[in-house]
Amino acid sequence: MSDPVDVLVVGGGVAGISAAVVLAERGVPVTVLEGRPTLGGRLGSTPVTLADGTVQPVDHGFHAFFRQYHNLRAVLRRIDPTLGLLRPVPGYPALHRTWPAEEFGRLPAAPPWNMLALLLRSPSFRLRDLRRMDGRAALPLLAYHPERTFAELDGTTAAELLDWLRLPDRARAMLFEVFSHAFFNHEAEFSAAEMVANFHFYFLGNSEGLGFDAPDADYETAIWAPLAGQLCRRGTVIHRGAKVVRAGPEPTGWRVSTADGAVHRARHLLLAVDPPALVELVGGSPELAATAPVLAGRVARLGVGPPYAVARYWLGGDVAPDRAIFSSVSREQTLDSVTLYHRQETASRRWAAHTGGSVLELHAYACPDGVPAPELAERMRRELAGLWPEVATLPVRDLRARVERQAPAFRPGDHAERPGVVTDADGLWLAGDGIGTDVPSALLERAAVTGIQAANQILRRVGAPPEPVRAIRRYGLLARRR
Ligand SMILES: Cc1cc2nc3c(=O)[nH]c(=O)nc-3n(C[C@H](O)[C@H](O)[C@H](O)COP(=O)(O)OP(=O)(O)OC[C@H]3O[C@@H](n4cnc5c(N)ncnc54)[C@H](O)[C@@H]3O)c2cc1C
Repeated sequence: MSDPVDVLVVGGGVAGISAAVVLAERGVPVTVLEGRPTLGGRLGSTPVTLADGTVQPVDHGFHAFFRQYHNLRAVLRRIDPTLGLLRPVPGYPALHRTWPAEEFGRLPAAPPWNMLALLLRSPSFRLRDLRRMDGRAALPLLAYHPERTFAELDGTTAAELLDWLRLPDRARAMLFEVFSHAFFNHEAEFSAAEMVANFHFYFLGNSEGLGFDAPDADYETAIWAPLAGQLCRRGTVIHRGAKVVRAGPEPTGWRVSTADGAVHRARHLLLAVDPPALVELVGGSPELAATAPVLAGRVARLGVGPPYAVARYWLGGDVAPDRAIFSSVSREQTLDSVTLYHRQETASRRWAAHTGGSVLELHAYACPDGVPAPELAERMRRELAGLWPEVATLPVRDLRARVERQAPAFRPGDHAERPGVVTDADGLWLAGDGIGTDVPSALLERAAVTGIQAANQILRRVGAPPEPVRAIRRYGLLARRR
């Protein structure tokens, strides 16, 4: 570093820690302020004591680590160069009450062969259906372009785009709806351009295929404890339970105050908090808003996605042996996915081996407002029993259910006003899965990409070379032809 520089990172999730890792490696003094007692945010994990006295780590929710998450994986390689912490999840089906399951794993990795293989082997799609589809409406899916797609489709909803495609109802439900639900937004409120961008990122724009991996230990053990250890060895100070309530400029940088009255100062401030926390923090920091009026206006208009629910069930007895570790669910009122934790994660596997039981996690990605978590958990359990009848016979030994609202909204028309990594105030940066970037990415990978991009902005200020940001192909297969 040619000039002295130090950084406050607010938020210890994937975005904040990715930035901290890159900066700490270059010798930048970093202080991380995390509001909760644990790191990880939505990828966090906390221990709970079950009714039978066993202590079990409970993740915020099961996560798929897709293979095109190049930047997230680059961060994880810091603690595990061969990425042995991730284990392949073999195939994953989409389930429906009456239609046959649709298998999304085990496809050729590279486009367009993955799409052709999916269409040819899909029980939901016949070749004659292709003739009925509107080919012009399908073109945007194949022709993703970072500017044109948003110019043409950001005013449209994902539901409208799917209507235009004139897909057979079954193909729509099994191939597209399960995909769009995974982004924590209702189709009728989700930008069609965002859906096309995600289709490109997950399916047609990368050569890694739709396969994914997951840690075989809870996230605290596999990811956060090792990353925190490495950061501390490089001199980073991590304050857990330090909720930042206000931020404002100083003559030489930035100042933040935490709920317990502590004050921290640094040349640079990175806000890497979840979308509702960003709205609250910027809204409660008038001095910051006066220094960064464009940012404040954009954050005030930033949408927050609908509530999501996660229910972890400890059951007495197992589901049928042929059930997949992870399954998406189509067209149930509440349930969107089910994960067999006892066939994937070490502590759950041990509990199941010891008790003869099973550990299931049920997710609902976009719930109605105002329904309590136990009610949503019971609805999901009943819906699962409609798909897997044996579930109805398994006694519930324990349950932890939560409903939260922390996902970004991607409403039609939001794109142009989405806050980016760079703000209109000197030394103030943003990162997170709701922050805009020109690098194709979503969810965990968006958090890692924006974290690294924020670190790069700071490195650039002091003349240090940037951390490489790896991107999948930027344009869709037919983007140039158009
Ligand atoms: C149930 C569920 C399943 C998911 N599954 C997948 C999946 O399969 N694949 C995938 O890619 N993504 C998945 N995601 C999304 C993924 O978890 C997020 O995209 C990612 O974790 C976002 O990281 P982040 O750092 O941007 O935000 P967060 O993880 O929300 O981190 C923000 C941090 O800031 C802290 N904070 C907030 N306010 C303050 C404050 N005032 N002061 C200090 N700290 C503060 C929070 O406590 C938190 O630790 C899933 C999410 C959920 C909820």
